[in-house]
Amino acid sequence: METTGLQFIAGKRRSGSSGKQYTVTNPATGEVIATDTLAAPDDIDEAVAAARAAFGTWSRTTPAERSEAMLRLADQLDARAEEFAQAESRIGGKPIKLTRGFDIPGSVDNVRFFAGAARNLEGRAAAEYSGEHTSAIRREPIGVIGSIAPWNYPLQMAAWKILPAVAAGNTIVLKPAELTPLTSVMFAEAAQAAGIPDGVINIVTGSGREAGQALINHPDIAMVSFTGSTDVGRQIAAQAAAAVKRVHLELGGKAPFVVFDDADLEAAARGAVAGSLINAGQDCTAATRAYVQRPLYKAFVERVAMLMDGVRLGPVDDPATDMGSLISFKQRDRVAAMVDAARAAGATVVRGGRIPDGPLGHAAYYEPTLITDAAQHSAIVQQEIFGPVLVVLPFDTDDEALRLANDTPYGLAASAWTRNVFRAQRASREIQAGCVWVNDHIPIISEMPHGGYKASGFGKDMSAYSFEEYTNVKHVMSEITGASHKGWHDVVFTSHRTGTVHQPSAPAASAH
Ligand code: NAP
Ligand code: MG
Repeated sequence: METTGLQFIAGKRRSGSSGKQYTVTNPATGEVIATDTLAAPDDIDEAVAAARAAFGTWSRTTPAERSEAMLRLADQLDARAEEFAQAESRIGGKPIKLTRGFDIPGSVDNVRFFAGAARNLEGRAAAEYSGEHTSAIRREPIGVIGSIAPWNYPLQMAAWKILPAVAAGNTIVLKPAELTPLTSVMFAEAAQAAGIPDGVINIVTGSGREAGQALINHPDIAMVSFTGSTDVGRQIAAQAAAAVKRVHLELGGKAPFVVFDDADLEAAARGAVAGSLINAGQDCTAATRAYVQRPLYKAFVERVAMLMDGVRLGPVDDPATDMGSLISFKQRDRVAAMVDAARAAGATVVRGGRIPDGPLGHAAYYEPTLITDAAQHSAIVQQEIFGPVLVVLPFDTDDEALRLANDTPYGLAASAWTRNVFRAQRASREIQAGCVWVNDHIPIISEMPHGGYKASGFGKDMSAYSFEEYTNVKHVMSEITGASHKGWHDVVFTSHRTGTVHQPSAPAASAH
């Protein structure tokens, strides 16, 4: 069934006013899912105005009121979980077992977490730090947040942006990726059904270059939060800097996967296959570079190849399918070109490295790919691929492994595989990444932060850290002695020279 109306502005679902027709398709089948017109800058103005109007009331709701509305939203999502799982699978070409088991339950858990976070504002204790004043911290919402999300986990990325913002009393305009807007609009509708007022959550669907630019540069947007590629993030950071807007950037990754010679080989091989092929490798934390200590190297490569042979590509609505298509032909061709370039540069393609035969080859599928013998400085090791490709390289010493792990511009996530507690501790300390897993790779949890080091950006998603980023910290300092002569005045003027002005006496306190 085709859907229309991919804008959700001031509580109303409608088409964009750009006049530009476009379709949302299932990249695993070519099926048309939605036809609509994209947002134009006028639509962005309207959405920002709606968010601004809603801010006055929403920012004054109590934490408990916001929390209750969010808990109702979680119930709405639970009740519609299968509908969301189907939609997320179709827009992303994702296997239904991934959306049922990961995307949707993860997003619902995020909603419940932020419903709790809304009631847990933190700051220093109010106290008399100077002795003569009471200092208190207020945590206030920032205003209208402009957010931009990518296509790889459309619902989760929307949730990670919307939830902390709204829990803290902000209102938001979110631009999903043009390829995958549907579940973000459904999420905003569910929020409305849960009683979150119109204008608090607005969705504008349009291209990055037009709608995205209009959104982040809008003067009424107080903060920009962005998840996407490092190239676009760099541009957005520069624009936010010029306008002195707070900015939050979750960018690309190139996660190392370090296997020391005392590791459980079977656990590491399984972790590498799952960690590199999840969501067809279109995961910013995906395992992309496995460094394996020489004694385990050959056995690791053989076991990974064997496990990859068992990964079933197939129709995304088949619960037995392990891996779906990539997001688009464009993305598939990009991945294929990177693998071809590695091959031409002398790397060995141990498995995959090709478009599958038969009907899957007519959609955007690409085979699970295992590469060895690539050079550390080559593009396949240094650049984000965002496809089902794992490169495996050997190492000899622990020093070398940690140096190679840190040797890319990125720093989003990493893993270390070892049974030696000292090696695990050293890797956790020395790998420069926002997350280091020990003996696992990929799991995330609402309570803990997700975010990068280095060119992977700054700012955190999920967790109380993310909630804090969507608040301003205000210091309120109240003088409590009532004295007109204050000791610190002496650094500016000396009171014995100016004398004392006689003031009328204060009204007497009423007697009880
Ligand atoms: P992208 O090309 O950077 O696009 C991300 C979003 O930005 C899309 O909504 C896109 O809109 C919009 N956009 C593009 N150019 C823009 C511009 N000049 N101004 C404003 N907005 C613009 O990234 P992608 O290809 O969608 O997603 C893959 C990337 O996201 C990877 O690099 C991945 O690592 C990263 N990612 C990071 C995280 C994390 O948490 N760190 C999580 C997921 C993904 P349109 O596409 O609609 O034009
Ligand atoms: Mg893109």
